[in-house]
Amino acid sequence: MDINNIFCVGRNYVKHAHELGNDVPEVPMIFTKPTNAIVYAEDKPIEFPDGQGDIHYEVEVVLYIGRDIEYPVQVDDVVSHIALGIDFTLREVQSQLKDKGHPWLLAKGFKNAALLTECWDFPGEEACGHNDFTLVQNEKIVQQGNIHSLIFDFKSLITYIDHHFGLKKGDIIFTGTPEGVGSIRDQDDFKLYWNQELKGRFTVQI
Ligand code: ZN
Repeated sequence: MDINNIFCVGRNYVKHAHELGNDVPEVPMIFTKPTNAIVYAEDKPIEFPDGQGDIHYEVEVVLYIGRDIEYPVQVDDVVSHIALGIDFTLREVQSQLKDKGHPWLLAKGFKNAALLTECWDFPGEEACGHNDFTLVQNEKIVQQGNIHSLIFDFKSLITYIDHHFGLKKGDIIFTGTPEGVGSIRDQDDFKLYWNQELKGRFTVQI
C-alpha cells in the first residue's frame, strides 16, 4: 500500500505523558517521520542505530487514510485500514533536542524508526475499542493499550491534522503510545498483537 505522509501524535495517553514527566497537552502534539523510515514487521531482523543511546519502543494504533477528508468528518468513511506500528525513538537524543528547542527529527526519523505490521480493513472506531493492542518483548508483555484511553480520539486527530497540514488519501497517523515504553536490545524478539491475534514479529539488530 502506498504511503504518502506519516503523521505522529506525542503524549496522547495520560499515563504515558506522566511516565516521561510530561504534562498532558491541550491540543494534539503532531510531528512527522520521513517515509524512508518505514520498515515492516516481517519476521526478520531489523537494524537500529548504534552508539546514540537508548532506543525506546512505542507501540501504537496506526490509521490509514483511504480518501481525502470531507466535512463533517466521518471517521469510518475516511479511515480505510488499520495497522499496528512502533514509533521508535532515540530517547537520549530526543531529550537533548528538547533541551535545545530543536526539532525531533533526529530522534524520531532515523532509518527503520516507523515500524508497521500488515494492515487490515478498518473495523470502525467503535469496534476498535473492543480490542486491546499489545507489545511483547522476549515473551513478556511490555505494553498494552486500548483506544478508549486516548486523550484525542481519531476524529479530533484527523480534524486537527487536516486543518493544519492537510490530510489526504495515502497518509497514515500513528495515534500515540500507552504507558510502558522501554529500551530495545540487540537480539530482542518483538511481537505485536491486536486482541489475541499476532499481527507482526521481528528481531532487533543493533
Ligand atoms: Zn509515539
